[in-house]
Amino acid sequence: MTSDFEEQLRAVSLRVTRPRLAVLAALRARPHIDTHTVIELVRAEHPTVSHQAIYDVLRVFTEAGLVRRIQPAGATARYESRVGDNHHHVVCRSCGAIADVDCTVGHAPCLTASDDHGYAVDEAEVVFWGTCPDCSADGTPQESASSEGRK
Ligand SMILES: [Zn+2]
Ligand SMILES: [Zn+2]
Repeated sequence: MTSDFEEQLRAVSLRVTRPRLAVLAALRARPHIDTHTVIELVRAEHPTVSHQAIYDVLRVFTEAGLVRRIQPAGATARYESRVGDNHHHVVCRSCGAIADVDCTVGHAPCLTASDDHGYAVDEAEVVFWGTCPDCSADGTPQESASSEGRK
């Protein structure tokens, strides 16, 4: 069951440890997971793993390219194990839900800069903002988004 997590670690020359396997499992279970939820999930199964160990694992994974750290403006950082395909994200302004958006045209980068200034561009980062189906459906503003403040 964990063997493909072990392979992922070996592929980037990281030692296989229990906290690392547990974090990979959490990322697989919940795409776009924030640090707090990673800690919750990992510690539910492995209460002896410290918060600091989990922070360290996330940092090492991000540096190794094993996970991608995304941080939409004004939101907390999220992590995902879907890497290397330059996919984009759509974020709900109301509840912060995040979904994947594939590159729609060709290979990464799927957007062509109007002027690349001579840079060799290999990635385009796009965040689509909107309202998710859950939030559009119930029609009532979320507590965090006060309609008073709108002009
Ligand atoms: Zn929403
Ligand atoms: Zn994603």
